[in-house]
Amino acid sequence: METRNLRNIAIIAHVDHGKTTLVDAMLKQSGTFRSNQQVVERVMDSNDLERERGITILSKNTSVHWQGTKINIIDTPGHADFGGEVERVLQMVNGVLLIVDSFEGPMPQTRFVLRKALELKLIPIVVINKIDRPDARPTEVVDEVLDLFIELGAEDNQLDFPVVYASARAGIAGLSSDALEDTLEPLFSVILDHIPAPVVDLEAPFQMLVTTLDYDDYVGKIVVGRIVRGTVHQNETITLIKRDESFERAKVGKVMVFEGLKRQDVAEASAGEIVALTGLTSANIGETVACALNPEALPVIEVDEPTLSMNFMVNTSPFAGREGNFVTSRKLRERLWKEIETNVSLRVEETDSADCFKVSGRGELHLSILIENMRREGYELQVSKPEVIYKMIDGVKCEPMEFLICDVQEKSLGAVMELLGKRKAEMANMTSLSETQLRVEFNIPARGLIGFRSEFLSETRGEGMMSHVFLGYEPFKGEIPGRTRGALIAFEEGETTTYGLYAAQERGNLFVDPGLHVYAGMIVGENNREQDIEVNVCKKKHLTNMRTSAADDALRLEKPKEMSLEQSLEFINDDEFVEITPKSVRLRKKFLD
Ligand code: GDP
Repeated sequence: METRNLRNIAIIAHVDHGKTTLVDAMLKQSGTFRSNQQVVERVMDSNDLERERGITILSKNTSVHWQGTKINIIDTPGHADFGGEVERVLQMVNGVLLIVDSFEGPMPQTRFVLRKALELKLIPIVVINKIDRPDARPTEVVDEVLDLFIELGAEDNQLDFPVVYASARAGIAGLSSDALEDTLEPLFSVILDHIPAPVVDLEAPFQMLVTTLDYDDYVGKIVVGRIVRGTVHQNETITLIKRDESFERAKVGKVMVFEGLKRQDVAEASAGEIVALTGLTSANIGETVACALNPEALPVIEVDEPTLSMNFMVNTSPFAGREGNFVTSRKLRERLWKEIETNVSLRVEETDSADCFKVSGRGELHLSILIENMRREGYELQVSKPEVIYKMIDGVKCEPMEFLICDVQEKSLGAVMELLGKRKAEMANMTSLSETQLRVEFNIPARGLIGFRSEFLSETRGEGMMSHVFLGYEPFKGEIPGRTRGALIAFEEGETTTYGLYAAQERGNLFVDPGLHVYAGMIVGENNREQDIEVNVCKKKHLTNMRTSAADDALRLEKPKEMSLEQSLEFINDDEFVEITPKSVRLRKKFLD
């Protein structure tokens, strides 16, 4: 049966192309806000970090009503995919809204999600936004979108996508760029006409796939998914079908649907609807919630294994907690355990020390997002260098391998291949996406991906697109030539200057007596030898660029620059930087997109 008064769509947009503005305008025009009520909270991107890094980390749900039809709008995670979230989220919807800036055109970062959406045979609608821009070039941008669809292997019915021209800011839209209506009505109509309503069996026994998990201090764990068939009621006893196919009885607490920006309690919800259920504390992503009497499992969605781990430690330095952020091991423990409630591919283990926890995830970006989120919440912590998780299989030391997909301009290919060669990657496939654009696929040890994203982005001038999925464990491939990274710190006291190499391997904080003059800089050398070292040195008030090579005994000083030490200073070099405050010098990881 078709649920005529319901549409489920996902939204795909490059950062700043206007997703939030558009959803806000849709909410307003659909009457979700009373006219005197302002949109105080912006719907999506509530996580600051997402905005800054240009990726969406958590998928969020909202809904609007138009002419008696409810439209659930699901935000998609950006190109970084941890544990198959993109695929799971897209399985809840029948269509996607691709928002493209009328000047900038389609951006490489949205390709990954778009490709998944096209593979899942979802129906696309293209919204050319910011049509009010004086430099808008809508015709070309539509052609570029079409080229991208062809490149990504879109099917004929997907290539026939409707185009809506809009100014989200002005709340207007039209089917032609020079005939805009006063409202977003044309957009709503296209959604209703083109996106199929979910086709479901309302009478069949209840079944739902757990797609995402959320957590709320009051109601605890929240399980989100689309009801595949049947109906679920509040306080109903259900069967949870676990990953290992075992059955577990559990009782649903609240049944909630998404209404505007909020979740709303309902007595029951039926097939096609996207719901949030409470009470199912042991439910995990990819498992099935089913009718108690007639439980049948939906195909399990695999969640990738963690391949990289880091130690998270309580900051034990004497300056910790100066800003009132001192974290106890109990607090750190609570925070991490809460995180694994919803962060599927993350594992947390205790270690021999009560102050230290081993946190494992799907790669550097996955872990660095957690670290940065925690720092912003006020957790002062120390983290160790990332290490891949090895396994002994039949007595052989094995390491995790990843399947890496890189989309690059032909001119960057040589440099990217060279980088990957050093990192023990083996090319598996190469296809041409367009006259100048190539897709190259590799099998690479997970170790080889550590620090790779930043090199890749700088080689491709930010235009390259990369994503990776876990392949499996294979015998250890041998050492990868390392890079020495560290900070050079020098202390000057009277006539004596002491230099110290503060290696990245011993990441943590280094504290400096405020009375000393401090020099600090980044060191990058190939193959663990200190050669071709470039150091930015800050001596009291001067930033100086120093160069040395293995042959040089002394550092040569170049380009003095005025800089104040009073404020926090950052020397950025690749993916790490030194932060200097009048009290401390810290080597920190720069969190990369
Ligand atoms: P998001 O990152 O995709 O959620 O983008 P936002 O909705 O935050 O918009 C990014 C910027 O573009 C903001 O400064 C908006 O005011 C601006 N913007 C959004 N829609 C329009 C539009 O239709 N026209 C113009 N000129 N600017 C827009």
